[in-house]
Amino acid sequence: MNWKTFKVFLRSLRLPVIALLGGLLVAAFALDDSEPAKPAAANQEARGEQPQIRDGLSQLREENAKLKEENAQLRKENQQLRRLLAEKVEGNVTSTTATNSISSVQTNQAITEAEGQLTHWFTTSSGKRHNNRCRYFKTTEGRLCSPDEGKPCKLCGG
Ligand SMILES: [Zn+2]
Repeated sequence: MNWKTFKVFLRSLRLPVIALLGGLLVAAFALDDSEPAKPAAANQEARGEQPQIRDGLSQLREENAKLKEENAQLRKENQQLRRLLAEKVEGNVTSTTATNSISSVQTNQAITEAEGQLTHWFTTSSGKRHNNRCRYFKTTEGRLCSPDEGKPCKLCGG
């Protein structure tokens, strides 16, 4: 076979090739046409699965019933817990109020005691204590103090 005859041979092949391609396309369409047959097979499979599905459904129903029972029980428990919680909260409120009143009484006492003790004036710069009759009482920079704090003032005696 020389080159020319080969070319001719190729040319002569073109038609068959196109015909072959066309045939393949037709075959492809034919395959597409055959696809609707598949669901039928799927149906057959589904028919085979139906008993399983029934079993699954009955299991699900049983589980559902169980869950409903559990739910009812949980509701009951929840109500009980709420009652207990309400009782506890009420108890806590009363006890907290009691504690608060006690602590406020204690605080008040502490304040009264402290106020009773803070009868003098402590001058920060000199570290001296003045009584309320002294001219330095609350006129200098300082703070209220107890009668025994700092050094007594020489003018008022502290
Ligand atoms: Zn003084």
